[in-house]
Amino acid sequence: MTSYWCELAWLGGEHAEAGVSIEVEDGRIAAIETGVASAPEGATSLRGLTIPGLANAHSHAFQRALRGRAQRGVGTFWTWREQMYALAERLDPDNYRRLARATFAEMALAGITLVGEFHYLHHGPGGRPYADRNEIGRALIAAAGEAGVRMTLLDACYLHGGIGAELSRVQRRFSDIDAGSWAARVDELEEGAGWRVGAAIHSVRAVDPDSAEIVAQWARAGRKPLHAHVSEQPAENEECLAAYGLTPTQVIERAGGLDALFTAVHATHLTGSDIELLSTRGPSANGCVVCLCPTTERDLADGVGPARSLDQAGAILAFGTDSNAVIDMFEEARAAELDERLVTRRRGVLPAAALLHHASAGGYLALGWDQTALRRGALADFVSLDTDSVRLAGLRPEDAAASAVFAATAADVSSVIVGGRQIVRDGAHVEIDVAAELAAAIKALG
Ligand SMILES: [Zn+2]
Repeated sequence: MTSYWCELAWLGGEHAEAGVSIEVEDGRIAAIETGVASAPEGATSLRGLTIPGLANAHSHAFQRALRGRAQRGVGTFWTWREQMYALAERLDPDNYRRLARATFAEMALAGITLVGEFHYLHHGPGGRPYADRNEIGRALIAAAGEAGVRMTLLDACYLHGGIGAELSRVQRRFSDIDAGSWAARVDELEEGAGWRVGAAIHSVRAVDPDSAEIVAQWARAGRKPLHAHVSEQPAENEECLAAYGLTPTQVIERAGGLDALFTAVHATHLTGSDIELLSTRGPSANGCVVCLCPTTERDLADGVGPARSLDQAGAILAFGTDSNAVIDMFEEARAAELDERLVTRRRGVLPAAALLHHASAGGYLALGWDQTALRRGALADFVSLDTDSVRLAGLRPEDAAASAVFAATAADVSSVIVGGRQIVRDGAHVEIDVAAELAAAIKALG
């Protein structure tokens, strides 16, 4: 039994409770008590505001090496993609593992206790499989374990260079040739205490409808999470409509992919009927999760996702850092509301408490884990924010959710606990010199 005492803890709603003790047993919260004035004997004291662990529901770890490089100059998503492909060509299992370990450790410092790694760089140069066909996937799992964060490895099927298009040279590294071979390879990946395996349809650009059906069946048979990039770009919608007479969401619905274990990533350019298909209300509702990645969508000039419409339709939201140009879940969460304000010129569409819930429990749901919260029986994943920082100084308990969502940054995270084990203490990772490892891993890639 491990004991913690929180100066302030957010248990839901807009406000925080003062003096909350948490007992942890077997990685879960065994008991939680409010109104405990001071730390009980033997308890670790967590100063500041403690909130549930944050889930990064959509990451491509290797893209961390593009930070500050891909932001230069002019272009679109498609020109950014050329830079991303040039980096992907230089990766191998060793240099990728080092980069991923440092990137996941950066996520730990940002209060991310669970990451969904959307993984498509499967094979060696030219598409030649490694002796272990899951060598890179296993390297990513090991990297997350070393960083101390939970992971769902979302193994992505990627078969085509676009609708009806051949794979380019670098894209061959992503491809298993057909969906049956993808499934056979992913079947070889085992799960463990700190990681799970899920499926992904990279996009309707990279996976044809028949293959999407095979991936969806694989996920459904094993009750695994299924993710897909959906309607990230208007051009993707136009090509999809021209080829199939359907939107990307409709293609995945026809493939049998839409259910409570499905997460639509980006979902920036949805139609009204797409929103209904993904939501929890209405005759065709499937209760899916929608993962918005606002900092990446800004960076790539993709547009603003319909957070308000999705929320009104009862869709469950989650957030992801995607390209990892920014790793800060507070920034992702507040962007869902603030970007809406710019579009609608209305304030307060998504309350802070709901945004904080989406950033934690929403992501856990999307990634196939128990929903996290500071309550008995939940996974003992929690994060403390330094309320003495210049950003949070003066925080009032009654404004706790709004302060966390609208004022905190990743730099305010002082403590991170995953499964009852502290992996960040006093703002530093307990085992990894994160900045030094990031610098070395990125330098090695040239
Ligand atoms: Zn992505």
